[in-house]
Amino acid sequence: MPATRITLEVDASVARAIAAAPADSCSADLAEAPWTFDSTPGYGPGSSSADPFPDVAPTQGELPADLRAASDDELDARIRAARQTLGDRVVVLGHFYQRDEIVTYADYVGDSFQLARAASEHPSAEAIVFCGVHFMAETADLLSGPDQRVILPHLGAGCSMADMASIDEVEECWEQLEDVFGPLDEPDAEGLVPVIPVTYMNSSAAIKGFVGRNGGIVCTSSNARTVLEWAFARGRRVLFFPDQHLGRNTAKAMGVPLEQMPMWNPRQPLGGSSEAELDDSRVILWHGFCSVHRRFTTAQIDKARAEHPGVRVIVHPECPMPVVDAADESGSTDVIRRAIEDATEPTTFAIGTEINLVRRLAAQHPQHTIFCLDPVVCPCSTMYRIHPAYLAWVLERLVAGETVNQIRVTGSVAEPARLALDRMLRAKP
Ligand code: SF4
Repeated sequence: MPATRITLEVDASVARAIAAAPADSCSADLAEAPWTFDSTPGYGPGSSSADPFPDVAPTQGELPADLRAASDDELDARIRAARQTLGDRVVVLGHFYQRDEIVTYADYVGDSFQLARAASEHPSAEAIVFCGVHFMAETADLLSGPDQRVILPHLGAGCSMADMASIDEVEECWEQLEDVFGPLDEPDAEGLVPVIPVTYMNSSAAIKGFVGRNGGIVCTSSNARTVLEWAFARGRRVLFFPDQHLGRNTAKAMGVPLEQMPMWNPRQPLGGSSEAELDDSRVILWHGFCSVHRRFTTAQIDKARAEHPGVRVIVHPECPMPVVDAADESGSTDVIRRAIEDATEPTTFAIGTEINLVRRLAAQHPQHTIFCLDPVVCPCSTMYRIHPAYLAWVLERLVAGETVNQIRVTGSVAEPARLALDRMLRAKP
């Protein structure tokens, strides 16, 4: 399974763009090597850097000095050599939002769920190197074989949105809802329980396990509507976490009035709502968001329309509701990718999602004009922690017979988390 370099006519590298003009990015520190930030806990420079970082989040240890000093060409040679030695024993997965210097070595490139499925299709691979963020590696571990090892090249690659819903906060919320509605597992005369918990894929395995234990389900940005229909067939209302925007945008498109979507702020009693508001609710939205997609605004869309008459605006459903409403289309990363691939005439696209994917799509489709709605270069800071030096490190350690940065989900969490994922796979539109 050889790694292949993607050759593009246009330079898609966000890292090179930042190095050439750090002032055009959201943080001048993005031009620094990522190991500069490994000794300080945090998400690193970029769009998520100001979000609260959980105390319990793992941090990356020191990268060996020879890797920190290696040139791009040396790292390329070392990664290729390790891949060559390991052959089919390893599968390398690259998320759409990874930097191009990582994607170039991936056997599969996709969204988090596509990649977890790709991993499950290689049961004989000993190791799955997941170039993404922590919750993605956990999902891959849940869906892979018991003897397979899932490796995250940089332990600091968390997800600030996933971290906005901790298991303690969600369990506390569940107890408060039980105080309001009574036993949450008892169906009423119509066979509906008071609340069905629904978690976005972008959540920890502990949260997926909570959902599985409490009759709930996981969703992705591609199937959120189908999953909400599944939940409404079983419950009076839904508790949706961690991303308020995906929950609101999806429920609104299904006809749920905004007044019936109160927000749950975990730092306030009853999440900041009254008992009457909760009683009237259809979807209770957790107070979480993606710091990358929150940057998109309607003003950016107005500007794109003024400067590019006829522009097609497509945004991700993690964007705030006014942005989704003002766009021509919204959809998952895969929907965005396919919309561009399916366009038969040269088209101008303004895209509202992470910059690495937008620049790669622009380079892959030179017949179209494709640009990011946000003029500031601001990658997902956690994805950006994975630099080729860390990929070289984990692969070379595998060659040496050592597994570093393994991500494992333990039995008591894994079993209900798999149940929640399995319900999602079986939910039909
Ligand atoms: S883009 Fe947003 S949701 Fe995705 S990993 Fe980064 S912070 Fe998390």
